[in-house]
Amino acid sequence: MAGRRLTGPADTYAGYRARLVETLRAQGIRDLAVLKAFAETPRHLFVPEAVRHRAYEDTALPIGKGQTISQPFTQARYLEALRLRGKERVLEIGTGSGYQTALLGALAGQVFSVERVEALARAAQRALREAGATNVSVLLGDGTLGWSGYAPYDAILVAAGGPTVPPPLAEQLAPGGRLLIPLGERGAQTLTLVERSGAELRHTPLGDARFVPLLGEHGFDA
Ligand code: SAH
Repeated sequence: MAGRRLTGPADTYAGYRARLVETLRAQGIRDLAVLKAFAETPRHLFVPEAVRHRAYEDTALPIGKGQTISQPFTQARYLEALRLRGKERVLEIGTGSGYQTALLGALAGQVFSVERVEALARAAQRALREAGATNVSVLLGDGTLGWSGYAPYDAILVAAGGPTVPPPLAEQLAPGGRLLIPLGERGAQTLTLVERSGAELRHTPLGDARFVPLLGEHGFDA
C-alpha cells in the first residue's frame, strides 16, 4: 500500500465512502482487508464527471464506450474470494475504470491489468495516478492472451464474462493460485473459481453473474 495518499482534509467524499463500507459490511462482507481497501480507495476518481455525485452508491455506473464500473458489492465478494494477503502478484483482465485495479493494489503486492479499449486504458491510468496507486501497471491489449512477461500470477481476476477459461490464463497461473472468471453466455454467467494444483485445474461455481462480454482471441468475437 506504499505511496497511497487517498484521504486528507480535502477529501470531501470521506463520509460517503464510510457509508459505502457500512453497506458492504451489512451485506456480509467480513474480510477486514477488503473493507479497508474500499475505505481507502476514492471511487469518485474512477467515474465520469456526469455520475460523480453517485460514485459511492452501491451500484454499477456507466464509464463510457459501452462499459460499466461494476457494483461495489459484487467486487467485494470477488475480492474476498481471491483471499489476498498483501504480497501477491495479481493479473487483472478488463481494467475498465481502473477502480478494481486500485482495490487490488491495496490488497496485493503488485497488479498487472490488461484492457482492450484504448480510451479506457488511458483514463484508468490517469485515475490510478491521481489516486496514488503506485504498484499497478496497465497494458493495452487482448487480455485473453494474459501478460506473459510477468507470469506466473498468484491470482488472476477476469472482469468480463467469457465462454471458457482462456488457455494462456491457466498457463500463467502459479501452482496454488486462484483464478476468478465469469463463465457462460454473453449476458448470463456463473462466477467460477479455478484453482491450480500441478497440471490439474479445479472449477468451483460461486454464483450467478452478469458481466460485459470478454472479447478477444480466446473470448467472444468482437
Ligand atoms: N472492474 C472494472 C469494470 C470492468 S468492465 C471497473 O472496476 O471499472 C470489463 C472490461 O473488460 C471493459 O472495460 C472491457 O473493455 C474489458 N475487456 C473485455 N474483453 C477484454 C479483453 N479480451 N482484454 C482486455 N479487456 C477486455
